[in-house]
Amino acid sequence: MSDGEKCTECGQSHWSIKKGLCRDCDEIRKERIYAANKAKTHELSKFIPYHNECDYIVDVELKRLKYQFEQYSEDYGGFEYNPDFQRGYVWSQEQKIGYMESFVSNILSPQQRTITLNCPDFTRINKAKDSDLNGFVIVDGLQRTSAINDFIDAKFKIFGKYGFEDLENSKFSLSRKAVKVQVFSWQYRREILEYYLMFNAGGTVHSEQELKRVRGLLNECK
Ligand SMILES: [Zn+2]
Repeated sequence: MSDGEKCTECGQSHWSIKKGLCRDCDEIRKERIYAANKAKTHELSKFIPYHNECDYIVDVELKRLKYQFEQYSEDYGGFEYNPDFQRGYVWSQEQKIGYMESFVSNILSPQQRTITLNCPDFTRINKAKDSDLNGFVIVDGLQRTSAINDFIDAKFKIFGKYGFEDLENSKFSLSRKAVKVQVFSWQYRREILEYYLMFNAGGTVHSEQELKRVRGLLNECK
């Protein structure tokens, strides 16, 4: 009868040896790795900010967006569209038109279809006692939200002549189109500002000058 292999760590013979280790020694090995990873994460955390993924993301139909935000305002004590860290309403009519045309033409990326909000007590369970935030705030997507709402409110037309209703009952209809609304529950203004700065520095922001140059290249093709 065989005693099985010997554990390379404790030297005892066992039936189930994995990677040269018995179950007990393998458990200890795993705990060591876990502790080492934790220590490394802890060390890196001193230098690298990290935001947990948003755990609440929901689809909101374009035509319900304004209503949904009003609802949030009633339920959570306010909804700030234009907090001081935002750029204000800076999109021109042309930019709003461009955004809605891209929506209809189906060329927006998931990120362009995502509106980011924050509400410190959205979960209703654990608002920090010293939280310096109240109600909802738009963290990212003010321009796009305003473009969507203005288009729904018939403040401008796209492709020269089409309003929301004109697109109904066609494949270009926006009635079933939605944005993703993600709600973070940061407790402190500092956290929102950190996110805002990293988010807006991390992507490539196309300046009007850059767009102009590319429009010039396009014109050369015609
Ligand atoms: Zn062992």
